[in-house]
Amino acid sequence: MTTTKGYAAQNPTTDLAPWNFERREVGPHDVQIEILYCGVCHSDLHQIKNDWFPGLFPMVPGHEIVGRIVKVGDHVKNFKLDELAGVGCMVDSCQVCENCQEDLEQYCLDGNTQTYNNKGRDGVPTYGGYSNNIVVREEFVLHVSEKLNLAATAPLLCAGITTYSPLKHWNVGKGHKLAVLGLGGLGHMAVKFGVAFGAEVTVLSTSASKEQAAKDLGAHNFVVTSDPEQVKAVKGKFDFILDTVSAEHDMNMYLSLLRTNGVHICVGVPSVPHQIAPFALLGGRKSVAGSGIGGIKETQEMLDFCAENNIVSEIEIIDIKNITEAYERMLKGDVRYRFVIDIKTL
Ligand code: NAP
Ligand code: ZN
Repeated sequence: MTTTKGYAAQNPTTDLAPWNFERREVGPHDVQIEILYCGVCHSDLHQIKNDWFPGLFPMVPGHEIVGRIVKVGDHVKNFKLDELAGVGCMVDSCQVCENCQEDLEQYCLDGNTQTYNNKGRDGVPTYGGYSNNIVVREEFVLHVSEKLNLAATAPLLCAGITTYSPLKHWNVGKGHKLAVLGLGGLGHMAVKFGVAFGAEVTVLSTSASKEQAAKDLGAHNFVVTSDPEQVKAVKGKFDFILDTVSAEHDMNMYLSLLRTNGVHICVGVPSVPHQIAPFALLGGRKSVAGSGIGGIKETQEMLDFCAENNIVSEIEIIDIKNITEAYERMLKGDVRYRFVIDIKTL
């Protein structure tokens, strides 16, 4: 066992605070990573606050993990000591169901094991990346390029793959008008990928102050959704809306911005269900779809694409002692565009 330093929420009402725990011994198929940086995803905040379902406490959040390999099991084939490596939202799955066989472990029919706030197949709770090391079976470890800024690579493990995967699945690219709804951690990665794939990208935002930043990210257009005139001007315009919004919002209004056959793809997970009027869908044969992170093979493909195309996240590095303040700013939409914890500050 390895004694591990981490930051944990002891229950949904207290702030995160230092908490030590044990990681399992490195088994023959495991890799141990010394964590250097961990991104702060809005899902961390949803889960420590029980927004979605009652969580497992103490909870050590964090699923945008990068670091260096410090130990490999005897049978590990694809990783070596001292290499950079990453871990995202999953650390295990059944590996045999039809989805796992098709590299869609995120949709494992037996349920994938989440990096934290879950129990592994051994029944032991999982603890995430707000900690100084992690032990993971090699099938769920990713290769990370030495070419990119390491701290800015961390958010690719969740914000990156969660936006890359649906854009790939729906073949979003040249000739498409893509709207990215919400310019936060996921949204800004969606803009970068949408632009890289050749789509015309419009950001739909509640924050007028983000316009210049959106353009700097490569967005072609920017719409402030509180301005009825600006919204009217884009009615019926988009082939796809990639919805990254973390809070309750009026789906019917956004559906009116889709063209005929348009698809509204939900990746954001507000704590309350959406209310959708059938009329908002049938006038224009529109679809509402969803997408969850991405499989391991696709996550590696995304990381390699980012290394080739010099794509990373826009980040603000924080000391872990300031995590509560970071969450408060995230709730206000005041992140440009991802907080990343420097794990040295643990
Ligand atoms: P984030 O950085 O906080 O960004 C969310 C953005 O949504 C905000 O920056 C804001 O952008 C917009 N927004 C917030 N409240 C809004 C409201 N009431 N109405 C309209 N827009 C609003 O969060 P994130 O880390 O990108 O995560 C976004 C969501 O995706 C979360 O719910 C998270 O749990 C979920 N998620 C899902 C998956 C998946 O597998 N599907 C993976 C990771 C995360 P503007 O200021 O531009 O309006
Ligand atoms: Zn996440």
